[in-house]
Amino acid sequence: MEIRVGNGYDVHALAPGLRLRLGGVDIESPVGCVAHSDGDVAIHALCDALLGALALGDIGGHFPDTSDEFKGIDSRILLGRTMSLIREAGYGVGNADITIALQRPKLASYIPSMRETLAGIMEVPVTSVSVKATTTEKLGFVGRQEGCAVYATVLLFGNQSRRSEFFEK
Ligand code: MG
Repeated sequence: MEIRVGNGYDVHALAPGLRLRLGGVDIESPVGCVAHSDGDVAIHALCDALLGALALGDIGGHFPDTSDEFKGIDSRILLGRTMSLIREAGYGVGNADITIALQRPKLASYIPSMRETLAGIMEVPVTSVSVKATTTEKLGFVGRQEGCAVYATVLLFGNQSRRSEFFEK
């Protein structure tokens, strides 16, 4: 058994009148993320953590924001595809911990649905997925409500021999 850890970080600018979707859940908000995809910055950070754990590059390399294929794409699909890669490499998710930095709106009431959604896609129990929200006390770009930043950490466990086969292909 091999254990791997990965971290991911993503930021999107916020602008009025756009949809705000975080962790696969639509949030009622006067501002949303500027993005090529649906702008789900939480899922993007999570995908980067998953890819990072196996040194498989980053989300931009796998799903380029210059490609029409990914224009407006539901980021839940990107997470599903990232999970296919992880499984193909012989790994499963132990747990994930995500911190969303957003000044407003308050996210507390959405967190249970985010955890359920992400756990469902990663095929792990809800208790293996943590989502936390924080403001930055009005400091910096998050505090000025110019953007949303997300930090994600994941632990993967897997089989070293299956991993070797995957990377030798
Ligand atoms: Mg992004």
